[in-house]
Formats: sequence, structure tokens, C-alpha cells
Amino acid sequence: MSGKELDGVVAIVTGGSRGIGLAISTALAEAGAKVALVARNAERASAAAADLPGRGHQSYSCDVADPAQVSETVKSVEDALGPVGVLVNNAGITRDNILIRMKDEEFDEVIAANLKGAFNFTRSVTRGMMKRREGVILNITSVVGLTGNAGQANYAASKAGLVGLTKSVAKELASRGVRCNAVAPGFIRTDMTDALSEDQVEALKGQIPLGSLGEPEDIAEVVRFLVGPGARYITGQVLAVDGGMVM
Ligand code: NAP
Repeated sequence: MSGKELDGVVAIVTGGSRGIGLAISTALAEAGAKVALVARNAERASAAAADLPGRGHQSYSCDVADPAQVSETVKSVEDALGPVGVLVNNAGITRDNILIRMKDEEFDEVIAANLKGAFNFTRSVTRGMMKRREGVILNITSVVGLTGNAGQANYAASKAGLVGLTKSVAKELASRGVRCNAVAPGFIRTDMTDALSEDQVEALKGQIPLGSLGEPEDIAEVVRFLVGPGARYITGQVLAVDGGMVM
């Protein structure tokens, strides 16, 4: 026993193989959690899990949008690592397009991964958490779910949906000892934002009061706090971690 705040707690992190999810997995592992790292690409997930600090981590190849794969994955996690104490719904994709050109598939894929994926995992872990009368769910939404964004109707709708999901789950499960919160990142340096040109990055910085893009670790530290015992009296909240973009 290391005496850290998440010692031995089983934490599922979806989209844990890269970017923000990898930073969250690392922070939770540093806090003593046994991380079940979920992503579609099995090799990348397995390599990422092997590099996490501490021991007892596992990786799982799973598409969060597929309810059958999700319930099978949760069962495998519980069999291998034990009851799930923390779920971080972080997996997410973008398929940006202007509204009049947006294809049905672009809208549906983003809702399926970003919103339905979080629902699938939340539903699958909830029964056990309710029985044990403890558990924490943390959803990664986005500031564009709060403000909207031209060219991202699908993505912003999925992220706004996550806000509603977060508050509903928080209200439904509070009496069962389960907390649910969301973190809304602003612009964070990951593969998702790598597509931006230097000019776009410079223009963006002008909209960020703290003057720079964030790093995945900036999100991970806040997630570590919100899923930990220091946040035991916080539920149903959406915390923007965005350099002051949305106030
Ligand atoms: P990223 O670098 O593109 O990583 C996405 C992760 O999600 C990968 O591990 C990916 O692995 C996994 N993933 C994607 N679709 C999946 C699916 N259907 N099933 C399972 N895993 C899936 O993204 P990121 O920038 O770190 O973003 C992480 C989260 O933060 C997302 O929800 C994103 O919307 C949100 N966010 C990011 C920013 C930003 O500026 N970067 C801002 C606001 C919010 P596989 O491809 O192997 O599945």
C-alpha cells in the first residue's frame, strides 16, 4: 500500500491511449489507481498501459459506441481487476463540417462515440457502483458544448449532450453514493488539435485570456482531483479548464 488517494481503486479510462486520456491514465496511476485503459487500437492501448507508472494496469480494445463490446469490457475489467470505482468517459472524435455539407454519417458517428459511448459505459458500471454505494463518473465534455462552434454542430451537440447526461446521472445516483461531474477542456495540445495551422493557433491564443493552449496534464490534474476523496462533496458540476476562454 502506497497511501496515495486512489490506492488500489480500479479506474476505467476510455480513449486512454493518447492525448488527454493518456495523461489522465498516468495521473490516476500516479494516484495509486489500477487503470483499465480502453481504446479501439489494441496495440497502442497495450503499449500505453505498459508504460503507466505502478502495477496492475490492463488495456482493453473496445469501441465505446458498441453497447455489447462495452458490457463485455466492463465484465472483463471486473473479472481481472475487481469492482470499478472510477469511470472516466474521455474517448471522443471530431468529424467537422459546415452544416449544409454535414453528412448523416458525420453526425451519427460523433454522437455515437462521444455521447452514446459515455452512456454505454456509465450504464454498465452503474449497477455495481449503486450496490457498493460508492463510485465516481467523470465525463470529458468541451467548452464548445457550452458555447457552440461554427463547423462543429455534431461535436458541440454531443458535448452539450454530455452536460445533460452528467447532471442527470448526478441527480439519479447521488442518493446511492455515486458522484458524476464533467470537465470541459478548452484548446489542448493533442492529435485532435494538431491539424490546426500555426496561424490558427496564433488566432486562438488571442481568445484565451491566459494566452496559450493547454497541455493534456492540465486536464489530468483536475480529473485526478475530481475523482478523488478531496472532491467528495462535489457532484453534477461542469468545470471548464480552458485558460479562461469561457467565464
Ligand atoms: P485524441 O488525441 O484524438 O485521442 C482520442 C482517444 O480516444 C484515443 O485514445 C482513441 O483511441 C480513443 N477513441 C476514439 N474513438 C473511440 C471509440 N469509438 N472507442 C474507443 N476509443 C476511442 O483526443 P484528445 O484530444 O486527447 O481528446 C480526448 C477527449 O477530450 C475527447 O473527448 C475530446 O472531445 C475532448 N476534448 C479535447 C480537446 C482538445 O483540445 N484536444 C478540447 C476539448 C475536449 P483509438 O483511436 O485507438 O480508439
